[in-house]
Amino acid sequence: MSTIAAISTAPAIGGIGIVRMSGEKCFDILEKIFVQKNPQKIENIKGYTIKYGKIIDTSNNKVIDEVLVSYFKCPKSYTAENMCEINSHGGIIVLRKILEMCLTNGAKLAEPGEFTKRAFLNGRIDLTQAEAIIDIINAKSSREAQESANQLEGFLSKKIHEIRKKIIDLMVDIEANIDYPEYDIEEVSNNSAREKLEEVENELVKLSKSFESGKILKEGIKIAIIGSPNAGKSSLLNAILKEERAIVTDIAGTTRDIIEEQVIIGGIPFKIIDTAGIRDAENKIEQIGIEKSKKTAKNSDVIIAVFDNSKELNSEDKEILELLKEKKSVIVLNKMDLVSCDLKNKKEIKETNRPIVETAVKEEKGLDNLYKELIDMFNLNQINLDNELIITNIRHQNLINKAIESTRMALNDLKMSMPIDIISINIKQILEYLGEITGDNVSEDIIKNIFSKFCLGK
Ligand code: GDP
Repeated sequence: MSTIAAISTAPAIGGIGIVRMSGEKCFDILEKIFVQKNPQKIENIKGYTIKYGKIIDTSNNKVIDEVLVSYFKCPKSYTAENMCEINSHGGIIVLRKILEMCLTNGAKLAEPGEFTKRAFLNGRIDLTQAEAIIDIINAKSSREAQESANQLEGFLSKKIHEIRKKIIDLMVDIEANIDYPEYDIEEVSNNSAREKLEEVENELVKLSKSFESGKILKEGIKIAIIGSPNAGKSSLLNAILKEERAIVTDIAGTTRDIIEEQVIIGGIPFKIIDTAGIRDAENKIEQIGIEKSKKTAKNSDVIIAVFDNSKELNSEDKEILELLKEKKSVIVLNKMDLVSCDLKNKKEIKETNRPIVETAVKEEKGLDNLYKELIDMFNLNQINLDNELIITNIRHQNLINKAIESTRMALNDLKMSMPIDIISINIKQILEYLGEITGDNVSEDIIKNIFSKFCLGK
């Protein structure tokens, strides 16, 4: 394969920066541009060693930077090819200049994800592990990063291989039956095939179900804060954001003008759909309007409905209570520091059957109880990363679901005593789907699609 090079650190000024190179000619190119302080022949340099020296501009022999070069020798490297990493000072210009030297001396510019793609094509990692690397880079919470790290360790691949092995064993039995129909083993193998398939079905269903947790880890939970004007919505939002001191990003909503603030509670990302911006623009005397609440509620996984406990419920409050019936929700009775109207005992509130949290947001009281309700509501404490395999990737989820469908069709064929060669069509299909997850059999298009999501230099 050709030799590729790229800047692997972020395109910004930093203490150090890294240019990476991988491929057959990697060390030849390095020889041309790198002058070692204590020169040693490449064959005498062991893998996993670092050498100090200077990178030279081969067009004018001037020094570009003082560097440390790490050597990795085939197959013990990230790509399983000869590789080096040039650690320079982290200026953008310096890094570009070093990259240019690699390119003018024979390397080609790597495509996004090409280093990892090579690791996959060279058999060092499988597809689920490559996908885990993207997820680790993009992780927004510690738990998501942990789950991706588990996947990088190969937990998911191991499980898929185990399941595939069971199916391959089954195929062997079935093929024997097709090849030697004169032996009367049909009855026996029919029963054991059914047992094995049911086992496979159960395991796949368990994996598929874990995606509920996986989706939460990856995408977070969307919260909408709704309530009448002055109930304390903005104060609540600010208190949550301040308390957690973890506003990661403002993500512009994919639809319309909703802004999402992100906050990590209990290691899980929560996205708060924030209509504050819209509200401010429309000034204080606006009609807050149930319409806006509806819109916000529609886009959420859970609603936090805020009421001013120092006032009786108004007609807008009552309409808001109606909205809660269709969604997971928590009722926040705010301003408990003021004179109380005892809203928690009001018929309309009680009828919703939703958990009630009493707060005095202004004094930052009651937030812990709110978090506890949210964590319980989504069983977040039960997302146990140590013992359980969790699917976080929608591609895996889709393929597992397809495999479940084929398993059920095969079971059905068995039940109907279809000819064994018909049954084996669906069984082969299960193998195909599972093989697509790990990359054992996967089309070029899918590979291209997966690696295009990587950043440059990875
Ligand atoms: P929003 O219109 O629902 O977003 O309400 P705000 O968060 O802007 O709050 C309206 C007013 O209520 C502000 O003057 C807040 O300072 C006040 N407020 C918010 N929470 C509390 C609270 O717990 N106790 C008291 N006494 N006042 C509060």
